[in-house]
Amino acid sequence: MFKSRFRNFLALAAVTTFVLAAVPATGAVTVLKNFTLIDGTGHAAEADSALIIGDNGRISWVGPVAQLKAPAGARTIDLTGKYLLPGLIDGHVHLGIVENQVQDAKFYTRAHIESELKTYAAYGVTAVAVFGTDKDLIFSMRAQQRSGRPTEARIFTAGQGIVYKGGYGGILGITTPVSTPQEAIRIVDADAAHGVDFIKLWMDDEHHMIPVKMPYNISAAVISEAHKHHLKAVAHVYYLADAKELVREGLDGFAHEVRDQPVDQELLNLMKSHGAWQTVATLSREAAYSWAIMPFLEDPFFERGVSQGTLDVLRSPEREKNVVLGDASVPGLPYRKRVFWDYDRVFWQALTNFAAEANAGVSYGMGTDSGPPGRFPGFNAHEELQLLVMGGLTPMQAIVAATSSNAKWLGANDIGVVAAGKWADLLVLARNPLQDIRNTRTIDAVYVAGNPVPTIWQTCENGKPSECTGGPLTGPAMPY
Ligand SMILES: [Zn+2]
Repeated sequence: MFKSRFRNFLALAAVTTFVLAAVPATGAVTVLKNFTLIDGTGHAAEADSALIIGDNGRISWVGPVAQLKAPAGARTIDLTGKYLLPGLIDGHVHLGIVENQVQDAKFYTRAHIESELKTYAAYGVTAVAVFGTDKDLIFSMRAQQRSGRPTEARIFTAGQGIVYKGGYGGILGITTPVSTPQEAIRIVDADAAHGVDFIKLWMDDEHHMIPVKMPYNISAAVISEAHKHHLKAVAHVYYLADAKELVREGLDGFAHEVRDQPVDQELLNLMKSHGAWQTVATLSREAAYSWAIMPFLEDPFFERGVSQGTLDVLRSPEREKNVVLGDASVPGLPYRKRVFWDYDRVFWQALTNFAAEANAGVSYGMGTDSGPPGRFPGFNAHEELQLLVMGGLTPMQAIVAATSSNAKWLGANDIGVVAAGKWADLLVLARNPLQDIRNTRTIDAVYVAGNPVPTIWQTCENGKPSECTGGPLTGPAMPY
């Protein structure tokens, strides 16, 4: 499906001249002009727009280029023919848990996480929400970002999520499973003391293959304790019955779609009357499980965002065979192999349930669940946008989900929209994403807090964007 569509895309795409933006001097004011503005709110695109990035990294003005009053000494970048939108926000990720497709808590280091955050930014994803697999290190990294002007994706975090002992979810060596409501409440309180952005819990039994699942008295305690701290609670769900129960308990959002059966009117009514969100649909996650032979392994947009070790693992015929036929030695896949035959249905169910919710007026954002093996930082966000459109959204609605809606869910008031006063977290595209959502791949420039950061199509002295330590970027490399 993806391979043939992507080939068509490459065949149709004209080669676009690619000009690299030099890094402006610290404190410089930058003017971007002559672009088409897609501001993230859903307002119609505005041709011939301009904006000013102040010396504090925030947007100081945005409007028609005819009304632009460029400050004296400002550096001006002409974006004629290009499209400017807010940086994307991935509303469900995990950081620092995988290297070369092996999952292990030992990869949870500052260097590893920063490399992933740079990869996200290179793909135009300028903020990520981590869903319950963080160690305390994340709080100092987040504090550092929030006290300055980061040059990587911004961190939002649930800290340590709540996983039931013996049940599904969490990461061995990072999360501490709980057995009682009291233990769960202690973790929520500790998360709140760290200033987490929201609370995450897991309620699943992996296709009935795990004998226990979080009891409802624990989920109810988690949700009510989160609310005492004025934090939203979001849950990993799979079953329709659990989804209904969780909304009745006051849950604020779902980390995945219901996938055991179609959502019904009762759940849709419950979600709307409680204001519960389909926080993210993670359609790219569900699609990924069906890939015995990954269709994008020769796609430069994918290759440039992963390590050679990852490519070696993914291209191995042994891996392809193991995914289908099952082999307990496949890293990170202890359960997937046992229901491989069922994953096309799971993906279809997620897609159609998302469509039903969107049609019913349930609120939603965009998220991928990237980070674990087989799900790729940054790259998956572009697939997710594509799948949301396959699910019935217009490209504009998918972009709004990934920008202002995600910011609203996170309570992040100064990102997700291109407007005066907001952070200059920006994504510049060479081609129009409203015409074809796959054009989000034509990344021309990315800014975080007004800082231009290396894009996936750029190369620095020492290699991929995640390895850049400054210095000159070379190009052109974008094959569109
Ligand atoms: Zn997740």
